[in-house]
Amino acid sequence: MQTRQARDISGASLLAQQDPEVAQAIQGEDERQRYSVVLIASENYASRAVLQAQSGVMNNKYAEGYPGRRYYGGCQYVDVVERLAIQRCQQLFGAEHANVQAHSGAGANMAAYFAVLKPGDTVLGMALDQGGHLTHGATVSFSGNLYKFFQYGVDRQTETLDYDQVERLALEHKPKLIVAGCSAYSRILDFPRLRAIADQAGALLMVDMAHIAGLVAGGAHPSPLPHAHLVTSTTQKTLRGPRGGLILSTEELARKVDSAVFPYSQGGPFMHVIAAKAVCFGEALRPEFARYAAQVVANCQVLARELSEAGLRLVAGGTDNHLVLVDLTPLGITGRDAESALEAVGIVANKNAIPFDPKPPRVTSGLRLGTPAITSRGFGEGEVRQVARWIVQILTHMKDAPVHQQVAAEVRALTGRFPVPGLDS
Ligand SMILES: *Cc1c(COP(=O)(O)O)cnc(C)c1O
Repeated sequence: MQTRQARDISGASLLAQQDPEVAQAIQGEDERQRYSVVLIASENYASRAVLQAQSGVMNNKYAEGYPGRRYYGGCQYVDVVERLAIQRCQQLFGAEHANVQAHSGAGANMAAYFAVLKPGDTVLGMALDQGGHLTHGATVSFSGNLYKFFQYGVDRQTETLDYDQVERLALEHKPKLIVAGCSAYSRILDFPRLRAIADQAGALLMVDMAHIAGLVAGGAHPSPLPHAHLVTSTTQKTLRGPRGGLILSTEELARKVDSAVFPYSQGGPFMHVIAAKAVCFGEALRPEFARYAAQVVANCQVLARELSEAGLRLVAGGTDNHLVLVDLTPLGITGRDAESALEAVGIVANKNAIPFDPKPPRVTSGLRLGTPAITSRGFGEGEVRQVARWIVQILTHMKDAPVHQQVAAEVRALTGRFPVPGLDS
């Protein structure tokens, strides 16, 4: 099944002669991805075209500045890919302005803050342990130190975002910016409501759609545009592109955003990654991508239904998007133990704090499961039901070695039947 191209991308040919140690690790990773059921909600399989663009000669080019306004000569071809990336990204999300240079999601958030805030300014963001992200004001992140963050979360009963609390905090603290967007939240976000709160408090609204960008692009989740003044994202999660970030904004904030990325917080852009972003946005503009996005959500519905029918407790009662958060407390096991038991049979997911989790972040009471990667791999509802049954078997037979061996063999057999996008096709 492997073609020469695929081996080149996995580094198994030329690299194997030049640097066998690195080549061997890459080969190991290739096989791990091949024979795992990847349920990490933030991971995906980028296409061969995305991987090729990213591994090419544009790696070698310095291009500080923006298309047509560079500080280096020889930029005619990198200008082409960056213009394509910007134009496709604007079209995909209906944005007035797009900056595609941020090296990562965290870097995009940092630059977005730099564009509209001064150190010490007041900001409202979702708490990390309630489903938010580190860069939304956690004290271990630059964000929680550079700015005066107040944190909102979910309602204890419904475990859905507490918009009344957001409103209360916004009117009380008068933040300059309200940040919304999550890493472990399974319900749809109400962007019009968030914008109304921001307007009422005289704040700007920033939506970090890192997790859901692919669903937004494919029409499977409401878009934060035009409600948000600033939208940040990663490109590697549901959007299925290279690892990287982007910032969308109104025309009014365009200059501030661009100068906050370069020269304020970054040097030379990763032109090979920007080339791959252009490919990714081009893919996301096609009708197949909308089908993929709808299938990610449909698969996640099946996963949620199977797990809850088997008696597992899902945070917020289920899902509207690409992920489910399982509360393992009733099973008497921790997120850490569940993660390692599943990994041992080839099912890769991550432990995750649940709202109001009494356990520390390295242990947790939750398990986060997502369907983007398995959907890209072609899993349909039948395979998802099988995956759900395996998860239930492992979590309800944590010390039963024969059950684990049986599941491991079945995982190996199923994954062996599904080609890996980017590697095989
Ligand atoms: C993943 C994520 C990020 C960070 O992205 P990186 O590319 O890992 O830096 C930022 N915000 C949210 C909501 C995320 O889920």
